[in-house]
Amino acid sequence: MVTGIVASVVTMASPVLLAHPLQADLAADLVRLHGAVSDPADDVRVAVTTSRFGLSAEEIAALPGLEAIVSFGVGFDSIDLDAARDRDIAIATTPGVLTDAVADLAVGLLIDSVRQVSAADRYVRDGRWAAGGTYPLTGHVTGRKVGIVGLGRIGTAIADRLAGFRCEIGYHNRSVADVPFAYHASVAELAAWADVLVLAAPGGGDPIVGANELAALGPQGHLVNIGRGGLVDEPALVAALTDGTIAGAGLDVFADEPHVPEALWALDNVVLVPHVGSATQQTRREMADLVLDNVAAFLERGELVTPLR
Ligand code: NAP
Repeated sequence: MVTGIVASVVTMASPVLLAHPLQADLAADLVRLHGAVSDPADDVRVAVTTSRFGLSAEEIAALPGLEAIVSFGVGFDSIDLDAARDRDIAIATTPGVLTDAVADLAVGLLIDSVRQVSAADRYVRDGRWAAGGTYPLTGHVTGRKVGIVGLGRIGTAIADRLAGFRCEIGYHNRSVADVPFAYHASVAELAAWADVLVLAAPGGGDPIVGANELAALGPQGHLVNIGRGGLVDEPALVAALTDGTIAGAGLDVFADEPHVPEALWALDNVVLVPHVGSATQQTRREMADLVLDNVAAFLERGELVTPLR
């Protein structure tokens, strides 16, 4: 009897589309609760996607009944916002619940880049310490000047953590925020002031860090990027890390994921991680729950819990 009910739900048309691959527990919940389907259909009202895959103009056009897009993640650069706006399609992301995990990773990358944790680990594993070597001295974290590009939820959480390291914080947003940190009117100006430049802004536009900003950061400077790969002119960054224009970098995001420029693989002064800012078990479950809350609220009341404004 129970099996019959489940089977009839799964084969019924559903208002919910699994538009792209989702983590298994979330996909299973959407199928169980809403009979979510994997193939586009005229009666789909809500498309569930991820910040990695988003939803293109073509995918939106293929869903004539679409009223809402619910995305697992906070980045929205992969969603065609114009196509959604033209049809008055509401969009929800999962802000807030991933802030701590991403800020934690940003600070980890900062420490790793400046103190060369990953490079020193390779030094031990390669037997170079045992062979009598002495690892070179590194930079220092406590008390450094850290410039944050994108002082929003995640940028602020990074600043909060760095208070424990007695770092001086400066920032650049498009607009001045009501915060106790110095505002810098351009990324280049912030880079010239900072010892470490941290990118925590959304992507989707042209790069905001190129050869000029990297030169301003200078040969003792480090770059941390947990925002989006497209914020940085990647060939300029490869050149700056190779020729010593900057000292090092910690990168979670890349211009053409999952492809990381091969020129970076052999460099000891860059830490490379595969876009794992929010990838803790706790955070990913909280993101999944927020997706479920948004889908349920939209189907029940026509409202999203965390609409993108
Ligand atoms: P948020 O609260 O909306 O903060 C974004 C901040 O960036 C705002 O302070 C905004 O201020 C500033 N900003 C926007 N465009 C800018 C630009 N062109 N130049 C300089 N500053 C700009 O968002 P959040 O939750 O902190 O997330 C920030 C970004 O982190 C996301 O959009 C996403 O790309 C990235 N992210 C990465 C991961 C990961 O796994 N690595 C996970 C989650 C999020 P103004 O509006 O005044 O400019």
